[in-house]
Amino acid sequence: MSMTESQKRYLEHAMQHNLVRHPSLSERVLDMPSCRKCERVALRHRKGVRCPVCGYEGPGGPPIRLIGRDV
Ligand SMILES: [Zn+2]
Repeated sequence: MSMTESQKRYLEHAMQHNLVRHPSLSERVLDMPSCRKCERVALRHRKGVRCPVCGYEGPGGPPIRLIGRDV
């Protein structure tokens, strides 16, 4: 799998939390939903997602792999 530079930079931003920084998660994280508020990795929670960084709860944003933009 190849990533663009901006996707790599976005991942650095998305994974700024210990819960999602584990190396075994770095591949899986691409398919996880994003937070609609701060665009970091959100964790599935009840019917939507919950963001460990900003505390957002609600519907998930697009999967991490679809964002990949400069932040
Ligand atoms: Zn957030």
